[in-house]
Amino acid sequence: MTEVRVRFPPSPTGYLHIGGARTAILNWLFARKHNGKLILRIEDTDAERSTQDSIEGIIDGLTWLGIDWDEGPYFQTDFSQDHIAAANKLLDEGKAYKCFCTKEELQSKREAALAAKQDVKYDGTCRKLSPEEVAEKESLGIPYVIRFRVPDEDGVAGYDDKVLGRIERKYADIEDFVIVRSNGKPLYLLCNLVDDIRDRISHVIRGQDHLTNTTRQILLYEALGAEVPVFAHMPLTLDLKKAKISKRSHGEIVAVQFYRKSGFIPWALLNFLVLLGWSPGNDQEIFSREELIEAFTLERINKSNSIFNYRKDDPKFFTDPKAININAHYLRTMPIEEIGELVKKELQESDIWHDSYDGDKKEWYLKTLDMIRDRFHTLKDFTSLGRAYFTDDFDIEEKALQKNLLKHPGLKEWLPMLADRFEALDEFTKESAEQAARDFADEVGVKPGIPINACRAAITGLVKGPSMFDLFTHMGKEKVVARLRDAGKYFEN
Ligand code: GLU
Repeated sequence: MTEVRVRFPPSPTGYLHIGGARTAILNWLFARKHNGKLILRIEDTDAERSTQDSIEGIIDGLTWLGIDWDEGPYFQTDFSQDHIAAANKLLDEGKAYKCFCTKEELQSKREAALAAKQDVKYDGTCRKLSPEEVAEKESLGIPYVIRFRVPDEDGVAGYDDKVLGRIERKYADIEDFVIVRSNGKPLYLLCNLVDDIRDRISHVIRGQDHLTNTTRQILLYEALGAEVPVFAHMPLTLDLKKAKISKRSHGEIVAVQFYRKSGFIPWALLNFLVLLGWSPGNDQEIFSREELIEAFTLERINKSNSIFNYRKDDPKFFTDPKAININAHYLRTMPIEEIGELVKKELQESDIWHDSYDGDKKEWYLKTLDMIRDRFHTLKDFTSLGRAYFTDDFDIEEKALQKNLLKHPGLKEWLPMLADRFEALDEFTKESAEQAARDFADEVGVKPGIPINACRAAITGLVKGPSMFDLFTHMGKEKVVARLRDAGKYFEN
């Protein structure tokens, strides 16, 4: 294979969508696998819809995901001259022509064709204009578009798609499409291809929504005498009702930024997105970077549409459960130092970070994360569910309050008493704390679980968590005693 050169060419008209991110990821994997180049090209030709914010958001999102590119960002608007030159070349060679038909004329012909159940393609009126007629119309200042002249002969625009196999479309089924608007601006279809030729793109990996563009672009490649790249079209991503996922109907869960804000680990999101449209051919779901690059092939991109399994009506699954599960997997198994760095940012954002966690309390900090991460799904859980480990200012879960504290009114007095017992212990160890708690339960005549679970609620605010006796020593006598004494507040009202 000659040098692999692929591109990610987003139109900067919004945030980085997870579908766009998936396209970028698959191109990136392919480039890395073949020691090729990934080119970032911003398709900003639509000046009205392109924004600087969007450009920054896209670059930021790619960087956060860990996708690096080798060339660019290039900006399509910097190459307008190339696009115009290509259109002029086609005109000069008679492979394109000026079309003076007005919108109204086109519209009424369309309606007539529809009514007669005929083909609604452009009827080629201006194809037949003589050079003199064209010159005359131009001298009268009649606006025109430039249309590509689809070859007259019988033939097909065809190519071998790496994913879908042979794709062909008869010339007769393709209308003379517009390549330059009446305001002189070349259309996306032409700009995109001229840029691909200039950037020596070897493989175009993009969504199936571009399939009809591709057959028309094949004609343009041929007309311009350029080599046709390899095409690989990825499936679309649909929701459970088979509708395309979009911001309008699904809200911000389609934006990469949402996952960042929701405490996703970048690689976990990347891992999830790859599986939305590609499969390794076995049931492996978790991949390291090296494994993914090794396993990735264009041929294993799925043909059929991928389902983004999101149930709006189930708040527990604030996005596709598979995404959450993959994130939880990384959260629970990544080296604890790496988790430590990620959680540090979360704690800093919540203003509950202490510099000692990077100093003399580092061991305690990492051990805390290790003790609690088994139940967590996102990095946000460390500052919500895990908050009590890092600050005294935490809320108690309603379930913990009702079930572990208020259900046994005696606890209002017992917890401060238990605090005294703990305080009096010379050595506050797992064993001595356990013994004291059990003796205490015996004396007041309840099962040991009652004061022990109440301690958990008062100390961590939660119903569940790591083993209570480990927790006692991990939190330390002083904190345990203080929180048990303070627990009286939960019984007020
Ligand atoms: N700017 C196009 C898009 O965002 C890129 C299409 C392509 O990959 O050729 O859909």
